[in-house]
Amino acid sequence: MTIPYRDTLEFIPVDVDKGIDRLTGKMVKADASAPDGYGMVAKCKFCKNYTEEKDYIGICEASEQTPKFIAYGDMLAVTCNQFQKI
Ligand code: SF4
Repeated sequence: MTIPYRDTLEFIPVDVDKGIDRLTGKMVKADASAPDGYGMVAKCKFCKNYTEEKDYIGICEASEQTPKFIAYGDMLAVTCNQFQKI
């Protein structure tokens, strides 16, 4: 799976458009494809419990409330104990 730099652990954001690849030290575009093997940041869009309904907005299927709560695909999930990597 190819992922953009902004979704990798090796990306240090500088602004919304660019950042630094911490392995090469080079400035890169946030939306450019990262090299194979770069680590994926835990985000809702990479979780088995996430069902996308619109662009970047979906439902967390792990939610026990009715209706299930809204999740944003780019929401960081590092503190979610129900995150399940796809
Ligand atoms: S379980 Fe956590 S990481 Fe997964 S979609 Fe729900 S809130 Fe996001």
